[in-house]
Amino acid sequence: MSSKRDYYEVLGVAKNASDEEIKKAYRKKAIQYHPDKNPGNKEAEEKFKEAAEAYEVLSNTEKRQRYDQFGHAGVNGAAGNDFGGGGGFSMDDIFSQFGDIFGGHFGGSSFGGFGGSSRGGQRINRGSNLRVKVKLNLQEIAKGAEKKIKVKKSAACSFCKGTGAEGGSSYSTCSTCRGTGTVNRITNTILGRMQTQSVCPDCQGEGKIITQKCTHCNGEGITQQEEVITINIPAGVAEGMQLSMNGKGNAARRGGLNGDLLILIEEEPHPELLRDENDLVYNLLLSFPTAALGGTVEIPTIDGRVKVKIEPGTQPGKILRLRGKGLPTVNQYGTGDLLVNISVYVPETLSRDERKTIEKLEESENFKTSPSLSKKIFEKFRNLFD
Ligand SMILES: [Zn+2]
Ligand SMILES: [Zn+2]
Repeated sequence: MSSKRDYYEVLGVAKNASDEEIKKAYRKKAIQYHPDKNPGNKEAEEKFKEAAEAYEVLSNTEKRQRYDQFGHAGVNGAAGNDFGGGGGFSMDDIFSQFGDIFGGHFGGSSFGGFGGSSRGGQRINRGSNLRVKVKLNLQEIAKGAEKKIKVKKSAACSFCKGTGAEGGSSYSTCSTCRGTGTVNRITNTILGRMQTQSVCPDCQGEGKIITQKCTHCNGEGITQQEEVITINIPAGVAEGMQLSMNGKGNAARRGGLNGDLLILIEEEPHPELLRDENDLVYNLLLSFPTAALGGTVEIPTIDGRVKVKIEPGTQPGKILRLRGKGLPTVNQYGTGDLLVNISVYVPETLSRDERKTIEKLEESENFKTSPSLSKKIFEKFRNLFD
């Protein structure tokens, strides 16, 4: 299981906190653990990332709903495996997405070495996310599934090991920025002397200059490649849910950070069972004699057909609940039920003999209905959904 802390706990807010409260709480944490205030403090950096991750989810209505419903799995994929295990958030992501939350505190664009898309001064290229759809049937959803899919994506060029430099070594450190990727400038302003940092114009922030481009990738460090990716889908997922595998997307130019692989879940309808969140529903049509006399019928479940006992005198509208025969919740908090909705089949045409038999039944007092009988029978269904 994931060791991730509850996002509400991370921000120190209540489950029903308003958007404004969440924003305030995040701002407080972000300022407390900001890297500029805690230089070289790994723990603060982790806390800073953790808060950003929590805020990213809780500040988005749709993601917050999914999180409330499915826990971490709903927004990050399942625990363990390749899914979102380790924070998943880079400092770059945090500043590019939430930079505005600091307001005047850290001076807008002057985040020291952390501004924009740079880390420790060097510009980091980031690969784009890769999106795939995975279709699952109910059996796979019930058990969880391992899917192997073939994707075409940009991946590190094997000839230059992703550097873009011939043989992986035909580059030199940029002399303009001495490999830092940034250049400093001192300017005088009405507020005093200010140091501003900008991306090195000679190496575009990469810190190195390629002296001979790799001929296989034309110096890009990436080539289009086919790859078979194994995706472990947790049990209980549903149509439209999106999982992500960090770093399994497109590779970036010249050894940057990989994008993510986003997996959109598609659900194949079951021929007989309907899904209602984690419950399954089966519409069972009983023959009139079976409903009256009782008997045994076979119904489909996720694990194959099972026999169900029908009591004599079973009414249409009755719902049998087979506990635990539904689907597991994606955060493994429980399993739904299989609800069997009972209807009774009335033949649409009758032979002459059948007609005579039924006309005889119609005369019997025991078969007559009345408003008071209606009341009595429907009273029984009032507490159906306990
Ligand atoms: Zn440079
Ligand atoms: Zn190459």
